[in-house]
Amino acid sequence: APAALAELLLSRIREVPDHPQPGVRFKDITPLLADPAAFTALTDALAAFCSEHGATKVVGLEARGFILAAPVAVRAGVGFVPVRKAGKLPGATLSQSYELEYGSAEMEIHAEDLAAGDRVLVIDDVLATGGTAEAALRLIRRSGARVAGLAVLMELGFLPGRERVLPALDGAPYQALLTV
Ligand code: AMP
Repeated sequence: APAALAELLLSRIREVPDHPQPGVRFKDITPLLADPAAFTALTDALAAFCSEHGATKVVGLEARGFILAAPVAVRAGVGFVPVRKAGKLPGATLSQSYELEYGSAEMEIHAEDLAAGDRVLVIDDVLATGGTAEAALRLIRRSGARVAGLAVLMELGFLPGRERVLPALDGAPYQALLTV
């Protein structure tokens, strides 16, 4: 991101040590959401990425990805589709499980909300191990739609998240507005 935008966004993200578990430095975006100038600047930057790459749908990842992706969809004039934790979506879903450090998790999508001609941009707040974003990208491909790209507010550069999502992107663009 341009230096002024990156500085604004970074200044509105609070780091909370040992949340939700000891050893995790949680990136809290609530100060950014509470600041209309910062939230608008973030939305505009993501909406520009969306339009630049011809996305026709925006997917947000539960739960903070929903908050970031929904205004991007409205600003870019495209639809919003949620990818949720297993068991939350009421209709017919596609499910994708993925490995965590300890155990596994599962994400789901209403496949009928994506059409074969859709180009889908995935948005989330933080890319850590990349497992969640990778699962979302796989769900989109399995639905028959195309992946337009992946955009995150913040990448944790000390984890191999980028390496994990690149194969699932298969050449589609990736943007992290901030890398720490
Ligand atoms: P991962 O699948 O490991 O890339 O984790 C990404 C998901 O977990 C995202 O939906 C993030 O919201 C959340 N997450 C992981 N690590 C952090 C962190 N340090 N601070 C805030 N959210 C995080």
